[in-house]
Formats: sequence, C-alpha cells, structure tokens
Amino acid sequence: MHRDIVIVGGAIVGASIAYFLREEGYRGTIAVIERDPSFAQAATTLSCASIRQQFSIPENIRLSRFTLRFFHELQARFGASADIAFREKGYLILASDEGRDILAANHRVQIAEGADIALLSAAELEARFAWLSADGVAAGAYGLSGEGWFDAHALLALLRTALKSRDIDLVKGDVADIARSGDRITGVTLANGTTIETGLVINAAGPNAGNVAALAGLGLPVEPRKRSVFVFEAADRFDDMPLLVDPSGVYVRPEGSVYITGGAEDAATDGPADPADFEPDWPLFEERIWPVLATRIPAFEALKPGRAWAGHYDYNSLDQNAVIGPHPDVANFLFANGFSGHGLQQAPAVGKALAEWIVHGEYRSIDCTAFGYARIAEGRPFRELNVI
Ligand SMILES: Cc1cc2nc3c(=O)[nH]c(=O)nc-3n(C[C@H](O)[C@H](O)[C@H](O)COP(=O)(O)OP(=O)(O)OC[C@H]3O[C@@H](n4cnc5c(N)ncnc54)[C@H](O)[C@@H]3O)c2cc1C
Repeated sequence: MHRDIVIVGGAIVGASIAYFLREEGYRGTIAVIERDPSFAQAATTLSCASIRQQFSIPENIRLSRFTLRFFHELQARFGASADIAFREKGYLILASDEGRDILAANHRVQIAEGADIALLSAAELEARFAWLSADGVAAGAYGLSGEGWFDAHALLALLRTALKSRDIDLVKGDVADIARSGDRITGVTLANGTTIETGLVINAAGPNAGNVAALAGLGLPVEPRKRSVFVFEAADRFDDMPLLVDPSGVYVRPEGSVYITGGAEDAATDGPADPADFEPDWPLFEERIWPVLATRIPAFEALKPGRAWAGHYDYNSLDQNAVIGPHPDVANFLFANGFSGHGLQQAPAVGKALAEWIVHGEYRSIDCTAFGYARIAEGRPFRELNVI
C-alpha cells in the first residue's frame, strides 16, 4: 500500500492537518492513522477545551487568533447545524505584586497583536466582579472578547466527519515502526503488520509524539505529563464568570451547571507520566485547590466536590511550546507536537500552516518558522511564559 502522506494520530491536530490539506488543494492520497478512534485517552477529549489570546509571545497569539476566526466560520465551512457551543466568556489571569510586570508586559504584546484584553487594577477587578476577592492580587488581565471555552468533542467530530467526504483514509492502527533510508522516511508499519509506503510522515501523536519520533530515529523532547481536572458544584452561579487563573496557577471556570478546576500540580515533582496512568491526583483538590478557591471566591468556601479526570499534556520539556515543521535533516518527517496544554486551540491554525507549507512550499497565513525544529537541535528555548 502507498499513501502520499501518512499522518500519525487522528485527534484534533492530525484531523486539522488533513482537513486543511484538502482545503489548500492537495490532491495526493492521505492516510490518517489512529490507534484508538474512540479517543478515550486523547488529550483532545480530556482537555478543558478553552481558547485564549493571553500568551506571552506573538506567534502563539496569532495561532489562537486564526482558530478564533475559524470558530466564527464553522457554519460556512461545515453547514448550518455546525455548533461547538463556544462560550465567549474570557479569561481572567491574576497576578500578585511579583507577577505584575510580566502580566503588563504580556498585555502589551497582546494589544499589539490586536487582542481585546483589559488590564485591571485590584480595585477595578473587585468593582467589576462582585464574587471575586482581590486579596493578594496586584492586577488582572481580562479577555473582553475572543476567549472562552467550547465543546472539544464537537469540534473533533466536525473535522473527522469532513475528512470522510474528502477522500481521506481514516485507518485504525498503531504505528509501530517507521522505515528510514538515510535522510528519507520511506514508510510506516502498523502493529498488525501492515506496511504503508509514503513520501511524507506527519507526527500528530500528541503526548506520544516523542516515541513516534524515536521510531524514525529522531529526538523530540515531548512527553506525557499528567494533569488532573476536578468537577464541583456550588450554590451560587456567576453569569459573568470567566476562566479565572489565580496567581498560584489554580484555574477555575463554569462548565454548564457545575465548575471545573485544576492547575495545582507541583512544579518541583512534575515529571513524565506513565502513559497508562489516568488516575486523578485526588489529594490535589482538598490540599491545594480548595483553599485557593475559597480565598479567591468566598462563595466557594461551601462547595460540593464531584468527579474528576486526568489527561496527559503533550509536554515539550525544552520550552513548553509547539514544535512545527520539518526535521532539518529528514525533510519528509514533519512535527506538529509539544503544545504543552494549548494545542486544542492551536490545532486549526497549525493545520492551515502545515498544509500551506506542504502545498505551497512556504507558510503564507501564519509564519511558524519560530516553532521549527532548529531550536530543538540547538537546545535553544523559545519559551512561552503563560503555560496554564
Ligand atoms: C487536562 C488537560 C487540559 C487541557 N486544556 C486545554 C485547553 O483548555 N485548551 C487547549 O488549547 N489545550 C488544552 N489542552 C492541551 C490539548 O488537549 C492538546 O495540546 C491537544 O489536544 C493535542 O492534540 P493532539 O491531536 O496532538 O493530541 P491527542 O489529542 O492526544 O491525539 C493524539 C492521537 O494520536 C494517537 N496516537 C499516538 N501514538 C500513535 C501511534 N503510534 N499510532 C497511531 N496513533 C497514535 C493517539 O491515540 C491520539 O488519539 C489540555 C490538555 C489536558 C490533558
């Protein structure tokens, strides 16, 4: 069997790339290989499904702003019933005295990129959000528009369904080997023994991307990092509540009639996760999260803890930023990896960028050169400061 392009991983990143290849006019054969089409353990479906413009570097803001435009075009692209339940409620990122200058510097970058973010003092925050205590807070950056949360399953389903009518092979299989002859990839072999010869492989394997790169003999500092998300109920509802990020790193946002929260992992002990471990770190809620919530939002002193889940970040241990584009020496192996907690919102933009690179030989809409592999090879971090 031969396919001109093989995409390893069929969740949001793999599906976006395949979708935009056809949108960009690519006519060759494409196989998207996915080992678990239920996506039960994919980062995509275990995420918090939120989109923001509050990043520290312009390139990340541009990726999210492309996806935001994509969200506003869903019905034109996928039909009148296309709906991902986008709630444009904003992020509110709080800083203590210590973090105030960084917050303000990030805000300047965001405004220069056209993002609709307000920088508010502690007094302004308390005046605007009646439920908030600004105790220990020096300032907050609030997304007036263009930020919020959505249904990740619905977005993935829209893209995967679109692939079926675009002559793209959705293959169920586990890529177990990648054949390479010198500086060219020649094919992939699935665990069931099927071999697919190919002219181009794209790594869209999420938290497993480091292992997939290793199958081709290539190094990639991307590993799974476990992140727990807790659901709770509270008596009070706040219609104006954005996704709030406390200076401690704890975040919380409404999710329908309940709330979800997380972000309490200890940086000192954070390390690669067992790929099979999806058990939430239950003590985090009681010991670290609840005290923060009760201080920041006094109404949450009384809350009812509920279920929890854990997913794996596709964590780039060099700089917590995406790795996008070809390997410098093995030019027919492309990366779309290492998003480190912000890949869902970047996927449509990365799909568009890589499709342009493949079809036109250059990035046209969004220049992803800065995310290229060269920095990995040189050990030169391109660091995002706002990793939530
Ligand atoms: C708790 C949590 C919260 C998050 N919150 C957000 C958020 O609010 N906003 C945001 O933008 N991002 C968020 N993220 C990050 C985001 O989910 C990921 O960056 C994004 O989903 C990555 O998409 P992906 O398609 O690359 O990876 P995945 O969704 O993990 O998909 C990779 C796919 O590749 C398949 N695969 C792997 N290896 C092979 C192989 N050898 N052969 C065949 N198939 C293979 C897997 O089965 C999987 O389906 C969060 C992540 C977590 C865990």
